[in-house]
Amino acid sequence: GKADIECDTLVLGAGPGGYTAAFRAADLGQKVVLVERYATLGGVCLNVGCIPSKALLHAAKVITEAEEMSHFGVKLGKAEIDIDALRGWKEGVVKKLTGGLSGLARARKVQVVQGKGSFSSPNTLSVETPEGSKTIAFNNAIIAAGSAVAKIPGFPYDDPRLVDSTGALELRQIPKRMLVIGGGIIGLEMACVYDALGSRVTVVEFADGLIPAADRDIVKPLQKRIEKRYEGIYLKTKVTKLEAKPDGLLASFEGENAPKEQQLYDMVLMAVGRRPNGREIGADKAGVVVNERGYIPVDPQQRTNVPHIFAIGDICGDPMLAHKATNEAKVAAEVIAGHKVAFDAMTIPSVAYTDPEIAWMGLTETDAKAKGIPYEKASFPWAASGRALAMGRDDGMTKLLWDPETKRIIGAGIVGVNAGELLAETVLAMEMGADLEDLALTVHAHPTLSETPMFAAEMGLGSITDLY
Ligand code: FAD
Repeated sequence: GKADIECDTLVLGAGPGGYTAAFRAADLGQKVVLVERYATLGGVCLNVGCIPSKALLHAAKVITEAEEMSHFGVKLGKAEIDIDALRGWKEGVVKKLTGGLSGLARARKVQVVQGKGSFSSPNTLSVETPEGSKTIAFNNAIIAAGSAVAKIPGFPYDDPRLVDSTGALELRQIPKRMLVIGGGIIGLEMACVYDALGSRVTVVEFADGLIPAADRDIVKPLQKRIEKRYEGIYLKTKVTKLEAKPDGLLASFEGENAPKEQQLYDMVLMAVGRRPNGREIGADKAGVVVNERGYIPVDPQQRTNVPHIFAIGDICGDPMLAHKATNEAKVAAEVIAGHKVAFDAMTIPSVAYTDPEIAWMGLTETDAKAKGIPYEKASFPWAASGRALAMGRDDGMTKLLWDPETKRIIGAGIVGVNAGELLAETVLAMEMGADLEDLALTVHAHPTLSETPMFAAEMGLGSITDLY
C-alpha cells in the first residue's frame, strides 16, 4: 500500500550522528524524516553519555580541587554534597542541549517521528509510534542507530545496585563502597565522579593496564593518582560471580592480584564496553549487510552494500566516539546531495576526561612498535612548565611522535589537566602536515599549558631554551 510519510532522506536514530546528518541534509535542500525511539533527541551522547558525564566530572574536579587547596595554604573544608541539586543541575544541562536540538529540527523543517523503526524493504521503514504503526518511504537512508551497553552474562541485572553507565549517571545515591568492572574510559570517568563524591572505589580490569588503547607513559600519572585515592585497582582480574545479598552485591574475583575473599559492595558499575545496534533494525529486510560483531560495514563515503543506504557513528565501526559520528554524518548527507566528498580524517582523537585527563591522537608508540613504523619522540614533563607548577598540577606530560625523515607530526599523547583541550593543536598539526619547526616556531602565549607541545617540538629539535 501507500506509505504514510514520504521523504528524500530518512535518518534512523537521533544521536550526534543522526541529528547532524538530518540537519545537514535539510540544509542541502532535502526533505528529511528523523526517526527516534525516545522522546528527546541527542542519543546516547547528550542524554546518557558525553554531556551528563562531563557535567558530573566538572563537579568532581571542583570538589577535589577544593580538597587539595590546603597545599596552597587555603582550607575550604569538606565539600557538602546536595545530591538532588547536583542531579538537577546535570539534568538542566542535558535539557538545554536536547531542547535546543528540537528547535533546530523545527527551524529546518526536519520531521521528527517518535518510535522504534525497522526496515521493511530497501525503500521503506516501519515505525511503531505511540499512535500505531507508520510506514515511511524514502529514496535514501542514513542508519545512525548507535550502540548499547555490553553485558557479562549471568549477573543479577534486575538488582538496582548493579548499574551500567546510564544508571551511574542517574546519581540516585552515593554508595559507601563501589566496584567498577572495566578500567576503560567510561569506567574510569565514573570512578572519578564517585570517588570525588566520597565513595570508596575499586576498579577491576581484565587487561594488564588501564585504558588499554593509550600508551603506558601517558596512563601512568592517572594510575599513580588514583592508586592513592581508591580502595583498590586490580589488573588482569576478572569478576567471576556477583550475587545479590540483602546488604550488598557480593563479588568473587579471579586473577593473580585479586582479593582472595569475596567482597561486598553497595553499587557495582558494569563498564566493559559497548556493542553496535546493527541487529536491532531489520537490516536484512533492506538487504544491508551486518557483520558478525553487529557493525554495518561502510565505504569511505559511508555507503553500505546497498548504494542508497548509508551508515554512520557507533553502528558502523570503532572508535565509538561522538566526533566520529558527527563528521561521518556530514559526509553521508553531502554524498546524498551529490557532493564529491569522503571521510578522510588522518586521525580521530581520543580523550579520557579523568583527573588527570588522558588524550592521544595519531600513532601511538605501542602501535608503531607492533607495526614496525619508524618514529622519533620527545616527552616534555610538566614539572618544567611554569603554568603547571603555578596550578599545583605538574603531574602531566606532553609527548610528540614524528616521522624521522620529514619531521612531520604523526602522533601525540598528553596527560594532565585539560589534556583534552591541548590535544587539538596536535590534531591540526597532523592534518596540516606540520613538522617540528612549525610547532616550535609558532609563538605560544606564556605561561600556558598550550606551550607544552611547542616545548616538546623544541626538545625534538634539540633547541629548548626558554623553560619556565
Ligand atoms: P547514539 O548516540 O547511540 O544514538 C543512536 C540513537 O538511535 C539513539 O537515540 C537510539 O535511541 C536511537 N535508535 C536506535 N535504534 C533505534 C530504532 N530501531 N528506532 C528508533 N531509534 C533508534 N563520546 C565522545 O566522543 N566523548 C565523550 O566524552 C563520550 N562520553 C561517553 C560517556 C558515556 C557514559 C557513554 C555511554 C558514551 C560516551 N561517548 C563519548 C560515546 C558517544 O556517546 C557515542 O559515540 C555517540 O553517542 C554515538 O553517536 P551515534 O549517533 O552513533 O549513536
